[in-house]
Amino acid sequence: MRGLVDYHTHSLLSDGQSSYEDMVCAAIEKGLDEIGFSDHVCLKPVIWALQEIDLPVMTHQILEIKEKYSHLITVRYGIELDYFPGKEEELSRIINSLPLDYVIGSLHFIGEWNFDGDQSLYGKWSNDHLYAMYYNLVRQAAASGLFDIIGHLDIIKKFAVYPESDLTYLYEETAGVIRQSGMVVELNTGGFDRPCAEFNPGPQWLEILHHHGIPVTLTSDAHHPDQIARHYQSAIELLKKSGYREITTFNRRNRGVLRI
Ligand SMILES: [Zn+2]
Ligand SMILES: [Zn+2]
Repeated sequence: MRGLVDYHTHSLLSDGQSSYEDMVCAAIEKGLDEIGFSDHVCLKPVIWALQEIDLPVMTHQILEIKEKYSHLITVRYGIELDYFPGKEEELSRIINSLPLDYVIGSLHFIGEWNFDGDQSLYGKWSNDHLYAMYYNLVRQAAASGLFDIIGHLDIIKKFAVYPESDLTYLYEETAGVIRQSGMVVELNTGGFDRPCAEFNPGPQWLEILHHHGIPVTLTSDAHHPDQIARHYQSAIELLKKSGYREITTFNRRNRGVLRI
């Protein structure tokens, strides 16, 4: 695993099952160059995310662990921040208050519906309409310019819910906005262990992203030390097959690259 990073991981501070220290030790064992934390931060009061009042504790713990293990691995400080349209100012205030290496912008809500945890509203609309609503939010998140990385780009397929029609035009349009925003997309291997049994994004999406010249980084969405860098070998194979030869790294919101 030399020369690789994992930038999407969760600790006990949000909905992960382990401390930062246990996660760092697992990343060292796997031989990663860098591990980045991205605990959930959400403007809505949900149990799986930190609220603004908890942020200083997270900063303190991450900076401490970064220093402690600096001779063995590079620890990066990120957050996975929920995007809500119209809340750009509040989101920007949170981002600017923290010494972050990167910000992952994710969608877990459509309106008030937490669609990646609560399955009750699937079927309320046609799947095509659901996908259109979801990708409309993704485009707004990208256009906001708030984030460095788009989180699990096609998470709307999580429960193996797929569109009725060919929505390639929707993906092309969304890729155009992401390209313009200058954002990076993560290849999140966690999707392989969800009902959709496929990375986020999947192969079709990755080809579109590559075609648009959109850079990618590599993540596992680990909520447990055992999940760090999961399925990385097939992820690298898929990236190469899609035309990618490098992944993006982040340091204080500046970018670097690693050859794969
Ligand atoms: Zn997420
Ligand atoms: Zn996550």
